[in-house]
Amino acid sequence: MNTLTAIFVFLFGLIVGSFLNVCIYRIPIAKSIVYPPSACPYCGTPIKWYDNIPVISYIFLKGKCRHCKHPISAIYPTIELLSATVSLLIFLKYGLSYQSAAFLVFVYALIVGSFIDIKYYIIPDRISLGLIILGISFSYFLPIGLKNSIIGAASGFLILYLVAIFGKIAFKKDAMGGGDIKLLSGIGAFLGIKGVFFTLLFSSFLGSIIGIVLILIGKKHITGRLPFGPYLSLAAFAYLFFGQWLFMVIYGV
Ligand SMILES: [Zn+2]
Repeated sequence: MNTLTAIFVFLFGLIVGSFLNVCIYRIPIAKSIVYPPSACPYCGTPIKWYDNIPVISYIFLKGKCRHCKHPISAIYPTIELLSATVSLLIFLKYGLSYQSAAFLVFVYALIVGSFIDIKYYIIPDRISLGLIILGISFSYFLPIGLKNSIIGAASGFLILYLVAIFGKIAFKKDAMGGGDIKLLSGIGAFLGIKGVFFTLLFSSFLGSIIGIVLILIGKKHITGRLPFGPYLSLAAFAYLFFGQWLFMVIYGV
């Protein structure tokens, strides 16, 4: 990929990131993601286009609303940069192809689902069920093909569903949220059954490591439920890059 294409992909990712922010903000409160245009959540003043340029506007406004001077969360430019970075990584790995386009939609949805999960402890059906439908529809362009996409979606659902049932019997409380079950099913629709097994193991590993770190720095609410969506998403993302290799290391096949 030449430099010009890389810059274009990065800018494209920034603009999409700006839209992902809107989705993260509006989907959980059941607002339309296309109308009305963005407004300051504090004073309600509509945001002009020149104050809505990804990352740049945030820097120029010094992280404050132009009108009421209320601080704007640093999460907005962070998500824009995250979106731009993952877009670039996917194009570097998979080139300008239909496969890249399908994987982009996949990771954009994972970003939205993860940040909503962190904020509200839910993964909306629009994200998880959307991924199942899109994964199976796009499977023609994916290396796994239609059959493995359906098997992946079914196995992702079934495995976590069984974990949820046994968890409930063993611990007498909900160990696994319904959102996580549907999300792994959506991940399976894009990555197939190998991707499901990898995501399960690697997300548990990530969750344990980060959980221990959070306990050590005293940030973890022991009683609170931990959102698991971000770990599933991170593991699924890792599979796109190191999946085949790591799968061999972990499972030996
Ligand atoms: Zn304001």
